[in-house]
Amino acid sequence: MSPTNNIHSIIIVGGGTAGWMTAAALARVLSTAQCKVQLIESDDIGTIGVGEATIPSLATFNNTLGINEAEFMKATQATFKLGIDFVNWKKEGSSYIHPFSQFGTEIDGLPFTHYWQKAFSLGIAPELSEYSLSCLACVNNRFALPQKIANSPLSKISHAYHLDATLYAQYLRKYAEQRGVERTEGKVVSVGQHENGFIKSVTLESGAKFEADFFIDCSGFQGILIEKALESGYDDWSDLLPADSAIAVASEKSYPTTPYTRATAHKVGWQWRIPLQHRTGNGYVYSSKFISDEAAEKLLLENIDTPPLSSPRKIKFTTGKRKEIWKNNCLAVGLASGFVEPLESTSIYLIQSVISKFLALYPQKNNFEPLREKFNTNINYDYESIRDFIILHYKATERKDSEFWSFCRNLEIPETLNKKIELYKNSSQLFRDNNELFSEPSWLAVMHGQGITANHYNPIVDSMPLEELSQRLRKVHSVIKKCSSVLPSHDEFIAKYCQSNITL
Ligand code: FAD
Repeated sequence: MSPTNNIHSIIIVGGGTAGWMTAAALARVLSTAQCKVQLIESDDIGTIGVGEATIPSLATFNNTLGINEAEFMKATQATFKLGIDFVNWKKEGSSYIHPFSQFGTEIDGLPFTHYWQKAFSLGIAPELSEYSLSCLACVNNRFALPQKIANSPLSKISHAYHLDATLYAQYLRKYAEQRGVERTEGKVVSVGQHENGFIKSVTLESGAKFEADFFIDCSGFQGILIEKALESGYDDWSDLLPADSAIAVASEKSYPTTPYTRATAHKVGWQWRIPLQHRTGNGYVYSSKFISDEAAEKLLLENIDTPPLSSPRKIKFTTGKRKEIWKNNCLAVGLASGFVEPLESTSIYLIQSVISKFLALYPQKNNFEPLREKFNTNINYDYESIRDFIILHYKATERKDSEFWSFCRNLEIPETLNKKIELYKNSSQLFRDNNELFSEPSWLAVMHGQGITANHYNPIVDSMPLEELSQRLRKVHSVIKKCSSVLPSHDEFIAKYCQSNITL
């Protein structure tokens, strides 16, 4: 191992959420003496300007950077998020919450699900959501950070954020520039390659040429390095997830500030509602094969709960991912790497996942190949397991009120997902495969919420007398209810902890 083989220069193209998250992470772990990091972005092209709902892993990313949570929340007009409220997904008028924390507690080493499934089927236990502190907190608009109380549900609250993505990119830009990342404004117009296909340089409209050992493509959907120059290719998943369009519009702030994202299904597609400190983010995701852009815009504007603050913006996309997210000496991050619709707020997580997997396998200049192969295998699995989880929401529905939902119910789904559904139906068993993003409670929340019934549970549960089962579940329920009643309101918590005083 010789330090002379180390990567000495990295160029990031693109300064959206992906570009600045990547720049911040590199600035955190690489000294400027070891590697010079430069970022090129074009103000003329701008960023996509959406991407406001996250999952709990973002707190881990921020912690790794050493970012103070309250300061970050003030700077990004952020609110807390405990889960997602899925309205009208199982059928019109239905709703369930997918919380970021577990249901109940293990009983004698077995997952809570099995005990609950038996008791629920016998009518001696309430709905699953009653055993989740996060679900109860969502319903009552309450929030608190996890507390250090052993064995209490209060110690296990897991939270994410709703944030202003533009402000987050600005916040990370400051962080990265303070740690030596150099930013250049300009539009990349051509890419120079070595004979072996590796990228050598990028040239800007101004004529300025930048060379580096390694390139990171954060240029958004078009992927100017990974696709236009390197022709990685694209796995198109439109046949599995038919949405290809979105319309986004911000609207005035409303109170109370809900500690959850809402995803409301319509006759075609679904609408998001994301509460921030200064406004509400709204959008409608749909398939243009089933509804026109004009009708979609009308539907969105009719279904937002506060007056719009700007004109709606249309965004077209193709669901899928690059065939090789790391190709030659180029890594694609963010929309340049692929896109799965934001139903479970996973895109910013995928940015984080690409960055952390890349840093874990960080190469020298002469050993790319085995690391690249390992990286691509790992990240492909991440993308595919998220895709399967999203498909579940569409496939497992009782809705028959439109051609769109009939299409979704009749979808041929990947075998990986089919096996998961069948296992759950036959045994209540759910497993987190290969460290996939969504763990058992998430699969349970969505399977049950979408109306999939488990016909069996682990037979060990039958060893517990019915009276004892009923008593133990009553105790778990009563502890969770008591904990939820002591939480402050979400708005009170924000006011004390992270109220933003930035005027925009
Ligand atoms: P962009 O924001 O598009 O940035 C691209 C950058 O590249 C810009 O700085 C641009 O100037 C630069 N660039 C492009 N071409 C050139 C060039 N030739 N020269 C120089 N610079 C160039 N994610 C979530 O986690 N949660 C959500 O709720 C969520 N909602 C979404 C809703 C929709 C409808 C969509 C489409 C996406 C959503 N996402 C969400 C995804 C999220 O928006 C993106 O993952 C995130 O914003 C990262 O975008 P990006 O930085 O890859 O691309």
